[in-house]
Amino acid sequence: MLDKALLAVLPHVPRPLLWRVAKRYVAGTTLAEALEVLRELAAHGHPGIIDILGEDVTGPAAARAVVREYAEASDAVARAGLDAYVSVKPTHVGLRLSESLALELYRELARRCEQNRQLLRVEMEDHTTTDATLRVFEALHAEHAHTGIVLQSRLLRTPADVERLTRSGAGGLCVRLVKGIYLEPARVAHTEPGPIRAAFLALARTLLERDARVSFATHDAGLAQGLIALVRELDVPSERYEFQVLLGVQQRLWSEWRAAGHTVRVYVPFGPEWQPYSLRRLRKNPQILKHVARAALGLG
Ligand code: FAD
Repeated sequence: MLDKALLAVLPHVPRPLLWRVAKRYVAGTTLAEALEVLRELAAHGHPGIIDILGEDVTGPAAARAVVREYAEASDAVARAGLDAYVSVKPTHVGLRLSESLALELYRELARRCEQNRQLLRVEMEDHTTTDATLRVFEALHAEHAHTGIVLQSRLLRTPADVERLTRSGAGGLCVRLVKGIYLEPARVAHTEPGPIRAAFLALARTLLERDARVSFATHDAGLAQGLIALVRELDVPSERYEFQVLLGVQQRLWSEWRAAGHTVRVYVPFGPEWQPYSLRRLRKNPQILKHVARAALGLG
């Protein structure tokens, strides 16, 4: 009941109050703040990922501006000597406006990341964008080997996508495997946690058996145990897999995994558009929502 009431008021929480709670999930509004968080994570043995918050740009000029910001981020990471790379949503670089524009902009950014010896990750959004995203990624990857994709275990199509992507030998394929953050309809996706988790494990097995590099992006402790058993069974060398986690989410698990010898890379989002992202994170975690309520009542 309390959780439901908190969820209902969440969109009306004043920005400064929301920021007090959101700052655990977001590095800040500027690149300098994101670099500071990356440095701090590096000091604790965690490599990073940079994400500039935002999606669905309204026009080509905005998409080009986003790519300029990402190029600056890539340069800054290289100058700072950090182990980190940029991760970019297709609709943030104009996928919904024009597939060819998105490909052109990913290509431009891939050249920059290549100069900086960094990966460029193409993220995955809801199922209406999957075909276009995979077409863009496959064209990009054919020219730039240091690019990677995200695949969602929730989607029923993903095993077939893995078949196609690995057909020519997956040696150079770099996949971030996720459950998928978008709640999709049952005609295209598993909707229950059990099948989503089982699909995650099965996809991880296929990708690892075919020599892909795989990042397991999850905070699900049970699933992680299965993944650790899998890498042991297949004797996967440490440079071919890692865990990836979101800033501020389930930190206790990161330390456990790191102490057990696994790489744990942290996703560091930043930018002025932090509000929608933080609201999504808070909706996932009613415990944190209670901090919002306490802060609102002056008790936090
Ligand atoms: P869950 O079962 O959802 O969560 C496991 C545990 O972690 C639960 O206790 C849960 O309460 C807690 N938890 C999980 N998320 C949060 C949170 N945000 N706040 C507080 N507690 C939380 N999805 C895409 O669709 N496309 C992408 O490109 C994409 N990129 C990602 C990159 C990274 C590095 C990560 C970690 C995730 C990414 N995701 C992406 C999101 C992913 O699809 C899942 O929605 C998300 O990771 C939650 O699923 P889970 O596997 O952690 O398991």
